[in-house]
Amino acid sequence: MSSQFDVIVIGGGPAGYPCAIRAGQNKLKVACIDEWKNHDGSYAFGGTCLNAGCIPSKALLESSELYYRTQHEFAVHGIKVGNVSVDVAAMQKRRAQIVKQSTMGIASLFKGAGVTGLQGHGKLLSGNRVEFTDKDGKKQELSAKHVVLAAGSSPVELKSLPFDGERIVDSWGALEFESVPKRLGVIGAGVIGLELGSVWRRLGAEVLVLEALESFLPMTDGAVSKEALKHFKKQGLDIRLGAKVSGADRTKTGLMLKYTDASGEKTIEVDKVVVAIGRRPYSKDLLSEGTGVQLDERGFVKVDHECRTNAPNIWAVGDLVRGPMLAHKGKEEGVMVADLIAGKVSEVNYKAIPSVIYTAPEIAWVGQTEEEVKKSGRAYKVGSFPFLASGRARAMEATAGFCKIVSATDDDEILGVHIIGPMAGELIAEAVLAMEYSASTEDLQRTMHAHPTLSEALHEAALNADKIAIDFPNR
Ligand code: FAD
Ligand code: NAD
Repeated sequence: MSSQFDVIVIGGGPAGYPCAIRAGQNKLKVACIDEWKNHDGSYAFGGTCLNAGCIPSKALLESSELYYRTQHEFAVHGIKVGNVSVDVAAMQKRRAQIVKQSTMGIASLFKGAGVTGLQGHGKLLSGNRVEFTDKDGKKQELSAKHVVLAAGSSPVELKSLPFDGERIVDSWGALEFESVPKRLGVIGAGVIGLELGSVWRRLGAEVLVLEALESFLPMTDGAVSKEALKHFKKQGLDIRLGAKVSGADRTKTGLMLKYTDASGEKTIEVDKVVVAIGRRPYSKDLLSEGTGVQLDERGFVKVDHECRTNAPNIWAVGDLVRGPMLAHKGKEEGVMVADLIAGKVSEVNYKAIPSVIYTAPEIAWVGQTEEEVKKSGRAYKVGSFPFLASGRARAMEATAGFCKIVSATDDDEILGVHIIGPMAGELIAEAVLAMEYSASTEDLQRTMHAHPTLSEALHEAALNADKIAIDFPNR
């Protein structure tokens, strides 16, 4: 193998592998180094997202949602089913197959783009050199004109509840449970806590969610967070806000969790607990001394708006740098960097990053919440439309939630779009595109939407911003 490259990418997750592919498409000689090792000992490209994050969680969310709907919604459609039961082993086999299909696809994508995929550890040395340690521990020195750091993130551990891989697990562990826990504790009512809590709740677990903050989903629009809490509670998620966990004692079969809330100290027994209190940038053994790459106080690699670190020709992307920890944000950064290295013009629009929480109802948003706009002092108008008034949603038996648009009064700019309801994660794409192209609220109003579709809800919300909705009494 040659040891000289135009670009070496360290990390083959959703930020690193697209960067390597685009560099290859740009006719650069590129290698991508990745050390991800699965629980069965196999190595795989794709990082957290493909192996232990986005993809496996969505596979289980889909399976568990089907199970839930079969039990609770089929009767309304006039469909009678007998005894419905879950085969967790089969469900997990499907999850594992989907992951394998996705990660193996990267090898063929690398081949197509001429990327050299290297499985093992990469460490940046000074002078744009990289030390590569292969799976057998053999070391080799490589060099490149540019190095892109894409080492991702790892779960934060709670000191009072250290992971043991059995009763106290991280999100990866909770994706691989072999049976449905009777009582599952979830620490943190964030994105992971709600998605994985929903999976195991739908499959029959009693789920207790302990959240340290008094507020629920504070990053979402206030109206969305209120609506979401109502639905999750109705589904039986026992969400306790303002609950600070202080530790746990092992019992015969589980754990006695200890926590404090406004009314004092409490204990509750669970069989297993998932700690999902956030993730932190992962830079273990990534940088040798003398590289000049600076980290901030929270451990993120410092970069500018184009993902350049302070060291010449060293770039960093994805969860390793500031901004939301989202696969698509990392992907766009990786692609931008590969284009900038090739001398092309490229940028990431950090104001139009969509977020999706894949619960039921699904939650999706882009741009500012109403609370943020209010705080900014800019005059604004709000339009909303409930799915209850959508013919398609009624036909789907999926009427929970609404679409909401927040726009500027002066120039009609779309400042934020917030959706809770069926297919919210798909519907938000229209709002992202509108914001990317600086469409006004009127542009959305004048765009024809097929009938009957869920997308009409966003159309009607835009009309309602000027109190000219057709299918809903304007208020
Ligand atoms: P990673 O995916 O973490 O990849 C980094 C890779 O670099 C890893 O393979 C790691 O092994 C490797 N590496 C690290 N150091 C080295 C080294 N020194 N040498 C060689 N290799 C190294 N985001 C979404 O947008 N949508 C979702 O639905 C979603 N669901 C999620 C569900 C869960 C349960 C979790 C945990 C996360 C989820 N995320 C989701 C977040 C998403 O997974 C991350 O934002 C994304 O994976 C970050 O990509 P990355 O490439 O920066 O890092
Ligand atoms: P998060 O930041 O979304 O939520 C963590 C929650 O834990 C917060 O509500 C926080 O207040 C709470 N918390 C923190 N310390 C606590 C404590 N000691 N006790 C109780 N609660 C505590 O983090 P996450 O859910 O771990 O997810 C990590 C990252 O992965 C997020 O940045 C997210 O964007 C990404 N992710 C995205 C998706 C998606 O896009 N659908 C899915 C899963 C994960």
